[in-house]
Amino acid sequence: MKVMAHKAAKKQYAVIGMGRFGFSVANALSSMGFDVLAIDSDEHSTQAVSNIVTHAVTADSTDEEALRALGIRNFDVVVVAIGEDIQASILTTLILKDLGGPLIVVKAQNELHGKVLNKIGADKVIFPERDMGLRVAHHLTSPNILDYIELSDEYSIVELKATKAMFGQNLKELDIRARFGCNVMAIKRGTKMNISPAASDKLADGDILIIVGEKSDLTKLELAYSEE
Ligand code: ATP
Repeated sequence: MKVMAHKAAKKQYAVIGMGRFGFSVANALSSMGFDVLAIDSDEHSTQAVSNIVTHAVTADSTDEEALRALGIRNFDVVVVAIGEDIQASILTTLILKDLGGPLIVVKAQNELHGKVLNKIGADKVIFPERDMGLRVAHHLTSPNILDYIELSDEYSIVELKATKAMFGQNLKELDIRARFGCNVMAIKRGTKMNISPAASDKLADGDILIIVGEKSDLTKLELAYSEE
């Protein structure tokens, strides 16, 4: 185990697994000014991140003693970003859970992996490839969909760019709730965010609607506004 670099300290994050995802999380947290401990069993991966994060350590996260020695319990959040080696990901999560302390966020490789992680007590299970795939697909099928966020098996949120057909119309005239069963939660206009839009609020070119609804209803809405 080798501590390879130093930087300023703030909130404590640890990221285990410096694959593309883990690296990206560690890098982003670090650039936001947070204190990040990066852990990887492969020394080359640790080296690659050593001048970006506060500490970079070469260690096997399935070794309880190694995690204990790193004082992992004192961190606020631990992100487990081990993908391919599902067994190592599960074991690491179990050990972290046993040690107690930080919020445990784990990247899942597939649905079954995700189920196991939830069962053993991961606080948050994330599916980056699946979620990004969904977002890209929705944007491709309907270019006016700028973002798509899955809330549950049934519900999602979409960011829809106002189309020509909407310009000059207010929310009452658009009647998205009655036509599609979806709710307009907010309207973004430039840097301003209207988080309690009124029925009389008129839409203009450049507006972005943030809409929540059942997935099937949102799909109908996406299709209805897909042609521009
Ligand atoms: P990505 O898609 O984000 O690039 P991935 O999902 O393919 O990554 P892997 O490449 O399997 O994930 O693993 C990510 C990193 O985790 C690798 O750098 C690997 O060395 C590290 N790793 C795997 N097992 C362990 C372990 N037991 N302890 C610490 N690091 C580990």
